[in-house]
Amino acid sequence: MTSESASPALHDAQNYLLQVYPRPDFVLERGEGAYLYDETGRRYLDFVAGIAVNALGYGDAGIARVLSEHASGLIHVSNLYAFFCNSGAEAIEGAIKFARRFARDNVGEGKTTVVAFDGSFHGRTMGAVAITAREKYRTPFMPVMPDVRFADYNDAASLEHVMGDDVCAVVLEPVQGEGGLRVATPEFMARVRELCDQHKALLVLDEIQCGMGRTGTLWAHETYNVRPDMLTTAKPLANGLPIGAVLMNQCVADAIHPGDHGTTFGGGPLVTAVAGAVLERISDPEFLAHVRAMSSYLDESLHDLASELPGRILELRGRGLMRGLRIEGSASAVREAAHDAGLLVATAGEDVVRLLPPLIIENQHVDEAVGKLRRILA
Ligand SMILES: *Cc1c(COP(=O)(O)O)cnc(C)c1O
Repeated sequence: MTSESASPALHDAQNYLLQVYPRPDFVLERGEGAYLYDETGRRYLDFVAGIAVNALGYGDAGIARVLSEHASGLIHVSNLYAFFCNSGAEAIEGAIKFARRFARDNVGEGKTTVVAFDGSFHGRTMGAVAITAREKYRTPFMPVMPDVRFADYNDAASLEHVMGDDVCAVVLEPVQGEGGLRVATPEFMARVRELCDQHKALLVLDEIQCGMGRTGTLWAHETYNVRPDMLTTAKPLANGLPIGAVLMNQCVADAIHPGDHGTTFGGGPLVTAVAGAVLERISDPEFLAHVRAMSSYLDESLHDLASELPGRILELRGRGLMRGLRIEGSASAVREAAHDAGLLVATAGEDVVRLLPPLIIENQHVDEAVGKLRRILA
């Protein structure tokens, strides 16, 4: 409920927007670097970044230049000359369709099962939600896409148990986002690859949240000695403009023929020009070195904090600038207290505070965020 004195925008949001998100009572008006400002002029250090979207922060001059150059040029032409889509869920749908198409072409009928993991999050459409583990996202909308099996994350025996020759794809997040910031172990990743090869199933890595520099390499899987057959990307790819993409091996691409898949808006010149600029910036070795430096500084600061508050911070999770603090108590209470202290953080489940700062942060932002968390958690 919003009070009479609250902003008209909050009142309208309450009355006319579908209430699918619990929205905090404030209206963001502008942003600069790692900071956001609400309509009353209050400043917030943003350790959410639009849920891992605004990798380059707010008001980036390079992105503004590309946008304005293209605004007066072509914004849209039909999608006949490239393949991109508009969101993460749509990239996952594409990957599922390509895996089934590939299996039909290369093996035959009946190879349709998709294996996913507990704690997974792949999106809200009927295929993506079918491979998303959390019951509350899936069961109210049953029946969703059939032929899905779940295995336990980081548990090779559990995966062995559900693998079979009917499996066309295994979909895995190298670092789980929504599911609580768990990181795949190198042994598990290697075993997933082996089992996929053994059963002629494609390995699809969902890097929608953990990819594009967030863990200090362009793709999170680069630190494993494992290559995927397909990779999905979306969130930060155009720094806030809607885009998703599926990358695939040539042998998968060869199975896809004209008419097999499509989307009206995907791959338009404006959005892909921005994505090109974002990719160029993030893949620059100096930019990635900066992300790694900030990652180690954040890691050290969080370890210090955790050792000061051992009963309150139970576990540090995640990698790079994608971190989780499993805490004693409610993560959403911490999120609210942080908001009041001028720091935006996210949660992952009931007891994990999730940190997803823009990749352009500096030491001082880490100090400010960890300082605020120290006061809130103590
Ligand atoms: C957010 C997310 C998705 C879904 O992306 P949308 O753009 O919200 O559809 C899929 N997978 C992962 C890992 C995500 O974090």
